Amino acid sequence: MKNFLSPEANRLAPYTPGEQPRDQQYVKLNTNESPFPPSRRVLKALSRAELLKLNLYSDPACAGLNAAIAAHYGLQSANVISGNGSDEILAFAFRAFCGTGRPVAFADVTYSFYQSQAALFGLEAKVIPLREDFTLNVDDYMDFPGTIVIANPNAPTGIAVPRKDIQRLLEADPNRVVIVDEAYVDFGGESCVPMIFRYDNLLVTQTMSKSRQLAGGRVGFGLGGEALIEALNRVKYSFNPYNVGRLALIAGTAAMEDEEYFQSCCETIRENRAWLVEELEGLGFAVLPSSANFVFARCGKISGGELYRQLKENGILVRWFDKDRIRDFVRITVGSMEQLAALADELARILEDM
Ligand SMILES: *Cc1c(COP(=O)(O)O)cnc(C)c1O
Repeated sequence: MKNFLSPEANRLAPYTPGEQPRDQQYVKLNTNESPFPPSRRVLKALSRAELLKLNLYSDPACAGLNAAIAAHYGLQSANVISGNGSDEILAFAFRAFCGTGRPVAFADVTYSFYQSQAALFGLEAKVIPLREDFTLNVDDYMDFPGTIVIANPNAPTGIAVPRKDIQRLLEADPNRVVIVDEAYVDFGGESCVPMIFRYDNLLVTQTMSKSRQLAGGRVGFGLGGEALIEALNRVKYSFNPYNVGRLALIAGTAAMEDEEYFQSCCETIRENRAWLVEELEGLGFAVLPSSANFVFARCGKISGGELYRQLKENGILVRWFDKDRIRDFVRITVGSMEQLAALADELARILEDM
């Protein structure tokens, strides 16, 4: 095949998304989606009248959605930017706050999209290993002279960093931006959003993909001081001004306004998580302490890769990373009780044969 790539495209490190199979119905516990349908308010808001407006561009300012998000968190709209998933907000942030003379730091075991973004923008990236027990110690980042990205709770470990630790990082160097990726914060962990007014170098990103039943809707957002949000808009308007589609704006706004459904879904996931952890430990798994809607677990009797393959053969998808330090683990999304019971049965069967 001919090579049409520019030198810049040649050095990319594209992210590998979890499988989204079309061939058969799996018990799908591999990409941390919600097992529940979108809020009824979302379904109602996506009316025929709205569909008939698809000939018109969406609002580039995302005013309605930003206002709903701001109201939820007690912020102003100027503290909010919405995106086509929070991955897009992360991309804006990498472009806005990193570059020549401004490297980026993140953990060795974390969301691998950070590595992809760093490569896309040609950034110097410093990978800082998690401690032996997979916790992140902010002391390891104190002297880093660039932008810091921390997933909190982390993926794929599920382990959370206390807010006061992030606060120490923010205070150690007020001229350094700290990005806290809170994709999973609604399932546990302490959100840094309340610190936004105190620290103008704090950017929090969140998503409606995990806790608000809208992974396919692609709605994410960034929260921060006005200067940071303005910087992100500078990148957005240089890249894709209409970055959130009409239907996503409507769905996201309605999802944000349905507090009751949001709370009850998160609560169910936390209960199901407790059940799953107990079940896994009963089967001899070691499970990292999770504050997220997934657990990261390993079993001494079977390798992570082999377990992933055997589960898949039997119609259950989990995520396995063929990567140093975490090869023995599988990451399992906390699904519905029905899904988790099917998983538990299958695990018992697989381990019985060992
Ligand atoms: C899922 C996820 C995201 C972003 O997901 P979007 O669907 O793009 O909003 C960001 N960070 C982490 C750690 C995630 O797991």
